[in-house]
Amino acid sequence: MDREQMRKLQGQKLHELVEWTYARVEHYRKKMDAIGVKPDDIQTIGDIAKLPFTTKADLRDTYPTGMFAVPNTEMERIHASSGTTGNPTVVGYTKGDIESWSESVARCLVGAGATKDSVLQVSYGYGLFTGGLGLHYGGEYLGATVIPTSTGNTARQIRLMKDLGTTHLACTPSYALYLAEAIEEAGLSMEQFKLTDGVFGGEPWTLNMRREIERRLHIKAHDIYGLSEISGPGVSCECDAQMGLHVQEDHFYPEIIDPETGEVLPPGEKGELVFTTLSKRGLPLIRYRTRDITRLLYDRCQCGRTTVRMEKPDGRSDDMLIIRGVNVFPSQIESALLEIGEVNPYYMLTVDRVNNLDTLDIDVEMSESMFSDEVRRVEDIEKKIRQKIESTIGISAKIHLVEQKSLKRTEGKASRVIDKRHLT
Ligand SMILES: [Zn+2]
Repeated sequence: MDREQMRKLQGQKLHELVEWTYARVEHYRKKMDAIGVKPDDIQTIGDIAKLPFTTKADLRDTYPTGMFAVPNTEMERIHASSGTTGNPTVVGYTKGDIESWSESVARCLVGAGATKDSVLQVSYGYGLFTGGLGLHYGGEYLGATVIPTSTGNTARQIRLMKDLGTTHLACTPSYALYLAEAIEEAGLSMEQFKLTDGVFGGEPWTLNMRREIERRLHIKAHDIYGLSEISGPGVSCECDAQMGLHVQEDHFYPEIIDPETGEVLPPGEKGELVFTTLSKRGLPLIRYRTRDITRLLYDRCQCGRTTVRMEKPDGRSDDMLIIRGVNVFPSQIESALLEIGEVNPYYMLTVDRVNNLDTLDIDVEMSESMFSDEVRRVEDIEKKIRQKIESTIGISAKIHLVEQKSLKRTEGKASRVIDKRHLT
């Protein structure tokens, strides 16, 4: 489909989606009413910029099923995220949603050279995580033979892979490397396997890891991208050209926005990736902010597919702060503190806006060795940190030394930023 046809199709689907969602999801109806937008205002895909964004917080705030557009009984399946930082994110799929998701995954597999004669081993975890079942249904949709090994029991994985002639492997890139190691340790040669391709995702991985996997498993390693809010794996995937991930854009409409202003950026520019689920009816999401930083490539791919491609994301917008116009990453502050050495690398950033000026306050935990009642000494260290931070990030900050272990320890994604500016 050429770009013009694609945009026309996307426009029609968007209009239907917005009508469907406005009529059924109070959250969206309220949001649209608040800015005076009605479903009839959305006729072409270009009209999408009139619609409000959706964030993970919207899903958490309406936990568990407040944003479902159909009664729970009409959902064919429900998945949920781990919820390490609050309410789990619950996502529901109607029969049709499962079908379009499976179709997307099937297309990804075809991009990775699979056919109905392929043998797909799914070594992603099955369960609430969308990886296992997502790839499984995609493989079945394609007509391939699916082996649902799930994770673990590596010796059996390898045995089945060899004896059943697995051609395609789907798992996390780190597990692919682990399998490669185990195959080598077992004294087996890749000549004994029929493996040709892998689709790997679910965690960040580098180009070095790709080379390593390809070299050791004698395969082509394709990057597959997705997130459960949007459907799961299969939102985009690399073809044999490995020049970016083809987005299944008739199902998932991608935009790149400036994470600070929310403005849509011109084609080719780098910014935050946003998706609208054009086909979903169970949990339709409009302009969902993924927080992934990437760019979209519209030139035609070597493989001949006309769908837009996205680069492998290389950052998260929620890690980046823009304070007084300067991009600040919490990791910069962490390394500055580690260099000073007299404090623990535990800190909390508070950003606010007072009289139109951004303020940055940093709470830093004192280490045991520097714990001191001497006000003078504490002031000295505060000054030292202030100077160090200022020279590192280029803006000034107020430093507050706090007692040991007084800052919250979080598992998984540490949330070390409080942004009170409400810019989104
Ligand atoms: Zn391609």
